[in-house]
Amino acid sequence: MLSYQHAYHAGNFADVHKHLIMFIVLRSLLRKESPITYIDTHAGRGFYSLSEPESQKLKEYEKGVLPLWRERAALIGNERSDEGLLGEWLGELSRAQSANARQLTHYPGSPWWLAQALRHEDKLHLFELHPGEQRYLEAQPLPPNVRRHPEDGLSGLRRMLPVATPRLCVLIDPSYERKQDYTEVAETLAFLSRKARHAVVMVWYPLLPTGKHRLLLDEVKQAGLRKLWCSELRLHTPGQEHGMYGSGLLLLNPPWGLDRQIENTMQRVVACLGGEAHHKGYWWVKE
Ligand code: SAM
Repeated sequence: MLSYQHAYHAGNFADVHKHLIMFIVLRSLLRKESPITYIDTHAGRGFYSLSEPESQKLKEYEKGVLPLWRERAALIGNERSDEGLLGEWLGELSRAQSANARQLTHYPGSPWWLAQALRHEDKLHLFELHPGEQRYLEAQPLPPNVRRHPEDGLSGLRRMLPVATPRLCVLIDPSYERKQDYTEVAETLAFLSRKARHAVVMVWYPLLPTGKHRLLLDEVKQAGLRKLWCSELRLHTPGQEHGMYGSGLLLLNPPWGLDRQIENTMQRVVACLGGEAHHKGYWWVKE
């Protein structure tokens, strides 16, 4: 049974971490002309109103996107070094707001961020299994080269390989409601790297006191995968609270130089989030 609904968490620090890195990855991929297929295996609704009861219940965006949004005047248009990337991302976020862009009223999900990068010759496939979430996703105004699939994302991804375009970029962002989700993601990643050796893949994982994400990281290492870089954003030190204390993103085949760009950008994010926020980037497996 699917119980997770992303609307309760939209715009939290994990969303910022994931979507900001995704934005940096896409920006780098768009430097080349050859067409790209994007696959989002767990798409969610696509777009969230922060005034809805779900968002208002936990108000997680207040410790995620909101502190960055408040700094946007200083960050947008600042082209100095990699800080400019955070400013560019906030500029995109402004475009997602309703008429009065000075107020943060909405937070876009991964389908929206991916659709922003879409060129005429690219394709975007969105998988979502929850019937309620599918209905919202169906209602999103997305370009004609986007296809929505109401089915399981990991088996859908396997079925689509190899893709017809020269390049492939995948986001795997499950809710990890079941322990086996970690190993299923690792197996899918191993399969994917055999079928599409140069695919750029982003896998999100939660940092929990139980350390379950090690199942995923250990299995991809054992499977012999190479060029795996991890970015981990912690909101506080583990053990102080129950639940998720940090957000992880595993990058397979990150474009050259991206590790440094992400490091520099995340240092700025950490400064905005304040408190005990901390970022660590590291090669899990190098060449
Ligand atoms: N990627 C989204 C974003 O960044 O805006 C958030 C996705 S949310 C963490 C996970 C989503 O996966 C939920 O909407 C859930 O309904 C959906 N889901 C759960 N199991 C799934 C499956 N087997 N295949 C596809 N989607 C699934």
